Amino acid sequence: MKTISTDIAVVGGGVIGLAIALRLRADGRDVIVIEPNEPGSGASYGNAGTIANYAIIPVGTPSVLRNFLSLLLDPNSPLAIRTSALPTLFPWLARFAYESLPHRYRDNARRIAELVSDASSAWTEFAAEIGASQLLSAKGCLYLYDTRKAFLAAGADIDLRRSHGVSQEFLSASEVLKLEPALPRFEGGGLLFPEAINLSDPGEVMRRLSSAVKRAGTEFVQASVTGIAREQKGVRIVASPYDIHARAVVIAAGARSRKLAAELGDPVPLDTERGYHIEFDMSDLPIGRPVCPTARGFYFCPMRGRLRVAGLVELGGLAAPENPRLLQALSSNARRYFPELGEPSRKWSGFRPSMPDSVPVIRPSKGGKDVILAFGHGHIGLTLAPRTARLVSAMLAA
Ligand SMILES: Cc1cc2nc3c(=O)[nH]c(=O)nc-3n(C[C@H](O)[C@H](O)[C@H](O)COP(=O)(O)OP(=O)(O)OC[C@H]3O[C@@H](n4cnc5c(N)ncnc54)[C@H](O)[C@@H]3O)c2cc1C
Repeated sequence: MKTISTDIAVVGGGVIGLAIALRLRADGRDVIVIEPNEPGSGASYGNAGTIANYAIIPVGTPSVLRNFLSLLLDPNSPLAIRTSALPTLFPWLARFAYESLPHRYRDNARRIAELVSDASSAWTEFAAEIGASQLLSAKGCLYLYDTRKAFLAAGADIDLRRSHGVSQEFLSASEVLKLEPALPRFEGGGLLFPEAINLSDPGEVMRRLSSAVKRAGTEFVQASVTGIAREQKGVRIVASPYDIHARAVVIAAGARSRKLAAELGDPVPLDTERGYHIEFDMSDLPIGRPVCPTARGFYFCPMRGRLRVAGLVELGGLAAPENPRLLQALSSNARRYFPELGEPSRKWSGFRPSMPDSVPVIRPSKGGKDVILAFGHGHIGLTLAPRTARLVSAMLAA
């Protein structure tokens, strides 16, 4: 075993761990990042690229709870569940059902709203710091409601966003088509979030972030953490072939953080909502901004040289193989809007780190602030990376 001693060890080199490492280096801390794979190649690579300062509505809402069964039975639904995983999923699902009750959903939205409120300005600053400003686009994001009925059904969420000061503009179907003329005619309406921004290439942004972290003098240790425990002074981390001793550790291992937190005495009901994307290489993109047909649960994302279609939620744990039916449904539903799309150029799936209340875990461990938990960002981890880094830096400075 090779021994490494450091001030702070960050476990996990996704967008959360990398943003934290960069911030801690700026604070003058001695930092290592422990990551077995290419940094930023997990969920942080394959997402929809939206800096979603408007995304305050948790996944669990009274409406999702009411329609849960029909969502599961509908083959075009954005939600799927692996029945074989039901016994292990049951505690998470029970908690999810509780968190979907009206009073819990409103409180969860309030907590998320507080976190995302400054996401656009925080990301603009962050992108400049890592040399990725030209990979940001600021044309807003668009929700599409295919029918008037769907538009009306969104009323409660719209009111909740308004009560938290989220900028949102109602658009008639014809106003939507003026903004995005390649969309097919439809009878519903749209909602524009004018202050939202998006990344035109999340993978490239992760490469630049990871380079900035290296340039700042952070060492990357290529290994997987298999054991972690407090010792008399600090924390011992086993990541073969390394034996690492750190004054403090940040657990930012995304969807795989639960076991590590539990070993340190912090049982957390983290699970995963697997998401999927397909991409169509093209030079002329049919849209200018991210467009989300809300009933389908995915975004059309304009990216450099390609259209990415990203989203869906599959509950089924971390070990199951990809679900070809969901990839097929993503393709055929994308073609309902853009029939000229052929076969996807590539397919991907990845694991969102998801809490039943959709509120990320960003706090010191119950056993003391030599361990900081920073995971569970679900659908908004990209959005919240700079904010999470600031919060963790303050916790370690206190
Ligand atoms: C389809 C899809 C669309 C999305 N769209 C958006 C969006 O538009 N906007 C948004 O804000 N968010 C979006 N998200 C969510 C966002 O991508 C995630 O919340 C975010 O990437 C989580 O970042 P992370 O660093 O916690 O996890 P990850 O990026 O998964 O990184 C975790 C890292 O930890 C490492 N790791 C795991 N176990 C260990 C271990 N034992 N030892 C060491 N390292 C370990 C992994 O190798 C990995 O690199 C989307 C997600 C998906 C799947």
